[in-house]
Amino acid sequence: MALPVNPPQPPRTLRSVADLLAAGLITPAQAPALENVAQHYATAIPPAFADLIETPDDPIGRQVIPDAAECHTDPTEDPDPIGDDALSPVPGIVHRYADRALLKPLLVCPLYCRFCFRREHVGPGGGVLDEAALVRALDWLRTHTDIHEVVMTGGDPLMLSARRMRMIMQALEGMTHIHTIRIHSRVPVADPDRLDEAMAAALETTRSMWLVLHVNHARELTPAARAAIRRVQARAIPVLGQSVLLRGVNDTPEALEALLRAQVAARIRPYYLHQLDPAPGTARFHVPIREGQRLLASLRGRVTGIAWPTYVLDIPGGHGKVPIGPDYLRTGPDGMLHALAPDGTLHRLARERG
Ligand SMILES: *Cc1c(COP(=O)(O)O)cnc(C)c1O
Ligand code: SF4
Repeated sequence: MALPVNPPQPPRTLRSVADLLAAGLITPAQAPALENVAQHYATAIPPAFADLIETPDDPIGRQVIPDAAECHTDPTEDPDPIGDDALSPVPGIVHRYADRALLKPLLVCPLYCRFCFRREHVGPGGGVLDEAALVRALDWLRTHTDIHEVVMTGGDPLMLSARRMRMIMQALEGMTHIHTIRIHSRVPVADPDRLDEAMAAALETTRSMWLVLHVNHARELTPAARAAIRRVQARAIPVLGQSVLLRGVNDTPEALEALLRAQVAARIRPYYLHQLDPAPGTARFHVPIREGQRLLASLRGRVTGIAWPTYVLDIPGGHGKVPIGPDYLRTGPDGMLHALAPDGTLHRLARERG
């Protein structure tokens, strides 16, 4: 007689304190404080990402495992650190720059980064713009003919169904002033199988389409992640990378170099290295700007130019992004400009005052 056996359970996304305990990612002593964190901020760790965690405090674990420190907001922090809320003409749209606007069709993410600048808004309860709200957001884009680029973000747009993504793409096709569509996503590394053939096909459009991948550590670019990225690249959609400079994740020359090289190896062009925005409870990830500049300068001349991201700061208060990379120009005592070479030597520029 055959013994009854339980069918193997497919691995599932870790969402609760109990899930984290069962997975051995937190200790029972941490549980009460983390129940408190859970009142404020969502947690999700999909199986593909959980598999990469070797120890809870490693560069992968730190990004997604909640920490009691998240309940301590310090006076330098702001629930809306980049001032998006004030720039939203209709739900789902953020308009700061003349030629481009953000479209946020949902506030759900495949995982919840503990350092997220939108952490007060994103979460499984944040949901999807309902049909009427999406129509209003698309109408806003249709009537603003000075907008040439739609930057889809959220939440994570690749958490939409392929059907809904196709519907949005068709609506954008009808707007002749929209030349470029950009999708910012963490799905290819967080939950690669979700970016399947159906979703990749839904991204096909006659517009100039770009995917910007949010990736913070070289180990995130697993074979499955690279396969997902190839499904997009195979449709002539260029893939760019954006990372956040994070304490304990990518704040050493070795980790940063590996992250940049892993992107180039996957045909991803590093685009931005973001200074961490001061969202509530994120102080443990802060790397000072001067340290970030020194880190980047340490790679100058050693790492291929195509791996070089622009280090950017989103000025708190909604004042926009500015490059804050290392500066290689100095004014000499003779009032002339000098260039700083990667080896640290200074060179006078005979034609340049200043
Ligand atoms: C970051 C951002 C963009 C995109 O900026 P790029 O520098 O073009 O990548 C667009 N709109 C808003 C509101 C933003 O915060
Ligand atoms: S994927 Fe982006 S929006 Fe979502 S939690 Fe991470 S940083 Fe925030």
